[in-house]
Amino acid sequence: MASSQPAKAKPHVLLIPYPAQGHVNPLLRLAKALHMRSFHITFLHTEHNYRRLLRSCGPGAVEEVPGFRFETIPDGLPPADLDATQDIWKLCEAKRRTCPGPVRELVERLSHTDGVPPVTCVIADGAMGFVVHVAKELGLPAYLFFTTSACGLLAYLNFDQLVKRGYVPLKDESCLTGGYLDTHVGWITGMISNVRLRDLPTFIRTTDTNDVMVTINIKQCELDAPAADGILLNTFDDLEYTSLAAIRERLPNTITIGPLISLSSYLPSVTSSLWKEDIVCTSWLDKQPDGSVVYVNFGSITVMSTEQMVEFARGLDGAGSPFLWVVRPDMVRDGSLPEGFVEELAGRGLIVGWCDQEAVLEHRATGAFLTHCGWNSTLESLRAGVPMVCWPFFAEQVTNCRYACDGWGVGIEMARQAGREEVQVAVRELMGDRAMRRKAAEWKEKAEKAVMAGGSSHGNLERFIQEIAHVK
Ligand code: UDP
Repeated sequence: MASSQPAKAKPHVLLIPYPAQGHVNPLLRLAKALHMRSFHITFLHTEHNYRRLLRSCGPGAVEEVPGFRFETIPDGLPPADLDATQDIWKLCEAKRRTCPGPVRELVERLSHTDGVPPVTCVIADGAMGFVVHVAKELGLPAYLFFTTSACGLLAYLNFDQLVKRGYVPLKDESCLTGGYLDTHVGWITGMISNVRLRDLPTFIRTTDTNDVMVTINIKQCELDAPAADGILLNTFDDLEYTSLAAIRERLPNTITIGPLISLSSYLPSVTSSLWKEDIVCTSWLDKQPDGSVVYVNFGSITVMSTEQMVEFARGLDGAGSPFLWVVRPDMVRDGSLPEGFVEELAGRGLIVGWCDQEAVLEHRATGAFLTHCGWNSTLESLRAGVPMVCWPFFAEQVTNCRYACDGWGVGIEMARQAGREEVQVAVRELMGDRAMRRKAAEWKEKAEKAVMAGGSSHGNLERFIQEIAHVK
């Protein structure tokens, strides 16, 4: 007998990433996981990223599928080159100033759109903390998803302590290069004991506590995060137990749901690469022996000088292992690659503009990852059981590097000014280090367990789903 009750509207989650590659990826993974569990999803891109996705992935990346829709808002910046990474400092400032209004209007519009259930919950990137206050005004529960490591977030949460104890602001620019950065800050509860100022996120080590990153991200986060209904982190308990315990002292409802994976076979057209992936990587890797390839990728923001590129090329070449090197079109800071650069290396390595990184890391031929230690890259590497040569660039990448090397035993740090010799030595050392390979394999197993039924992240995600499925 047909029920006379009207069908209950599906819970509807609005997900709002910070508009950069390393932030959009994990939030889209969460969005797919929620859609799989029957949530109605609205995923918010900036107009700029929407255009980029159309170009790099095709219309499927942003086309509506049943119960999964995309919306856009402006990012507050003037129109920008679709080939280049946006200036993250300007973006930070612009989104806080210009995005609250459009987000509020969007939620209100969605609540009056035919065929769309009203929004019941908002999940925003930690760097979009203003969304919490907008959601509260509209009577909606709001969660913040920080795409950093727990150790990185913990460092940010200790900014006030560092100021109180007189470590920051740094006296002057000379402190940025001298021995001052070797000052130990092992008193930070939850951090590994040998941590130094140089291991804390670069944004913290500032001479000016009123700069954009400090005022808009770090200080604001101290106000936004406690106002949220919960904090989500893309990590797992076994990996960051002590950092998590210290974070929970401040933010009790902090839950781990990682490592989140792409779910590439679920809604396969819904993807988030802002650059077009080069499809030759897999066939090239297929021809290489097991564990022989050094994969080199510095993420979506790192830039290098032409001289550094040349030093890396010579070092990789000298190390003797085949390499797969991703060189984004906008990666060379001061112009273009030297003439014949790519051709000269052909045969010893493959250079591409962008790749499916998860697939590369999981390929049997990949033996090491030369990485900038962005959190997604670090976690994807841990999950794939691939040890790392760590060459951090900025933000909390330096903290991730310290933990990868000293905390988790899966990394070798390479100096910032590494020349060809250092690159060669670090790559050779890592490729020959069986103990580190074993350690990486152990982390792979633990990461897999965390997201399987009975695992910590799996259980946390299930509880979170129950929590947000039943909000009115
Ligand atoms: N990525 C990718 N292909 C590439 C380079 C990066 O798919 O050629 C993805 C990578 O898998 C990760 C994200 O882009 O999910 C980069 O995030 P991460 O936090 O490592 O670094 P960021 O780009 O934020 O510096």
